[in-house]
Amino acid sequence: SYTSQICINCEKGNHRLGLDKSEWLDVREWDCPNCGTHLDRDINAAQVILKKGLATQ
Ligand SMILES: [Zn+2]
Repeated sequence: SYTSQICINCEKGNHRLGLDKSEWLDVREWDCPNCGTHLDRDINAAQVILKKGLATQ
């Protein structure tokens, strides 16, 4: 999964949505298919990056 498709709450990827890359770019908000959390795509992606420490590597 792309970083932006990993849920900050449960850290599962949301590949169940089945979107290709261009379709995903149009998605602003999504509901995690695993835990049901409603997420803003960009805010969630930033949180995932911070949580995993990717920004410091
Ligand atoms: Zn989740």
